[in-house]
Amino acid sequence: MHAVQKLHKYRQSLSTTTYKSRGQRVIRCELCRLAKQFCICSLAPKVESNAGFLLLMYDTEVLKPSNTGKLIADLIPDTYAFLWSRTEENPEVLALLSDPSWQPMIVFPKAYAGENRDVFDNEIKLEPGKRPLFIMLDGSWREAKKIFRRSRYLQHLPVVSFTPKAPEDNAELSSRYQIRLAANNTELATAEVAAQILALAGEQTNANLLDLWFDVFSYQYQRGVCQENKGNPSAVADYKAFAALNNITIAEDSTTDLPK
Ligand SMILES: [Zn+2]
Repeated sequence: MHAVQKLHKYRQSLSTTTYKSRGQRVIRCELCRLAKQFCICSLAPKVESNAGFLLLMYDTEVLKPSNTGKLIADLIPDTYAFLWSRTEENPEVLALLSDPSWQPMIVFPKAYAGENRDVFDNEIKLEPGKRPLFIMLDGSWREAKKIFRRSRYLQHLPVVSFTPKAPEDNAELSSRYQIRLAANNTELATAEVAAQILALAGEQTNANLLDLWFDVFSYQYQRGVCQENKGNPSAVADYKAFAALNNITIAEDSTTDLPK
């Protein structure tokens, strides 16, 4: 189990009632949280990355089957996930932030940075010997702003900000996140933001892979709910083709030497 799956289990144990999400009668895979018949666990990618991600998750966000923060953890081995609290500072979070091997930065629009904060605008400058630790504030946009403003231990950290780039030049970028309809179409899902950041960190293959993995999740998710599927029907094929082309192992490959 990765960090988000563990956090989901923990958060679930705190709940006295079942979290009521859309499609709550659906029987879900415990790991990817998709309807069992549309589970994507056997397709999960195995890659390496110099980057780490720290997800600070707002209250019930981790319980929502539509959460895409978990897709980052599927891909990036060094992903950490914690529940955000307004009143308590988590010692594990503080330890990560002061770990000298990491250079932590908050992924957030520069417009909110204020005057005294360092901003990495469309570029990341790493100190020698350090790996980037990207802090993602995972929740609705309103919740993310609350985490940003109300966490004392984040106030001294730089912000990393980017101008979203569409995969093809000149194409207008819009979120492919049909699962939760945002007020405008350009509000990106957490996994889409992480893909943009990986590209900024020089990991273009991982960035593309995360985008494709997001498409797989989005399409399979929509198959499990009673609404029009606006996802990409060839998402799984596209993802597998990209993985094969780039010699990326996916979970089901590791079972191929079993007798058929
Ligand atoms: Zn699954």
